[in-house]
Amino acid sequence: MKKVDKELFKKIATILGPVGTSIVVLTHHNPDGDAVGSAIGLANLLANRGHKTSIVFPNDFPAYYNWIVVKGELLFYNRQKGKVKKAFNDCEILICVDFNTISRAGKVEKYIQNFKGSTILIDHHPDPENFCNCTVSDVTYSSTAELIFDFITELGLKKFMDISVAECLYTGIMTDTGSFSHNISEPNTYKVVAELLLQGIDAEKIHSNVYHKFSPDRMRFLGYCLHEKMELLPEFRTAIISITRDELKKFNFVPGDTEGFVNYPLSVAGIVFSALFIEKDDHVKISFRSKGAFPVNHFSSNHFSGGGHRNAAGGEEYANLENTLAKFRQLLPEYLHQLVNAEN
Ligand code: 5GP
Ligand code: MN
Repeated sequence: MKKVDKELFKKIATILGPVGTSIVVLTHHNPDGDAVGSAIGLANLLANRGHKTSIVFPNDFPAYYNWIVVKGELLFYNRQKGKVKKAFNDCEILICVDFNTISRAGKVEKYIQNFKGSTILIDHHPDPENFCNCTVSDVTYSSTAELIFDFITELGLKKFMDISVAECLYTGIMTDTGSFSHNISEPNTYKVVAELLLQGIDAEKIHSNVYHKFSPDRMRFLGYCLHEKMELLPEFRTAIISITRDELKKFNFVPGDTEGFVNYPLSVAGIVFSALFIEKDDHVKISFRSKGAFPVNHFSSNHFSGGGHRNAAGGEEYANLENTLAKFRQLLPEYLHQLVNAEN
């Protein structure tokens, strides 16, 4: 662990103390690879220790994570509301991973609020809200998965790690660092990866399972978005891609299909800010990415009810696509100085 709060870990060790307690591990709405890997990885480790574990996702994760081995009960609130309610009623400990604002749990938020047992938060985003009894939060970690590895080690639980846990944690680190291309300035990430490899994982297979299992529709949709929809605003070093519901339908969209699209415009020389707008039923889901010093998490929390990391954030706007895009364009001149002076 990079920074250890001895008192905090003593408290956590007491909470986790007795083997056999029931634990729910919960992650955020629209789960990404770090959310999936962190939640299932930690739950598998706790199951190996003898706990009864349920892993709760507010909604489905992309199908390219279906290969992940799960020990314990896997629940999706969007289609298993009754079972999720029962899991929360029956368990003694709740562990929230990879989010730090309670609203990111989506419709599961109410179960956190009403929870009577002990709660632990493990996360790497800035500015955590105080909604758990114990908060393990460190923004210097590449991913929640990397932090969970150190959390496990600090608590002396590494002996319960097996290949299923290691595969999950590797998936979280790999996806949150864009296959080791960003969020990875500290040697600790590579140390943890080395430890995971020592558990016997096949890193190439994991990469292939996640990134080489796309449908032809998804590949053509990516091509379409880059060829037909990417708009470059060089004066603001900014790129925009917007996607309508009709376009999602035309390319037979399934969850996960647009994951990563927002990163591509940053490969254009001079572009430091990329924004992806996706039209949903009653709002627009937005992803922001940047290179260098431009803080997209602040931009998103200031204007689009969102947040995240300095270089990767999300947000939403309850308006139509046209008005959302107009609002975004109008904001850019205000940020001209920061955008022009961002690094890269
Ligand atoms: P993505 O663009 O891939 O959905 O999200 C990028 C990053 O921003 C992730 O770290 C994610 O957890 C965070 N994020 C995405 N949407 C939101 C949001 O609506 N609110 C907050 N606080 N963070 C978000
Ligand atoms: Mn993460």
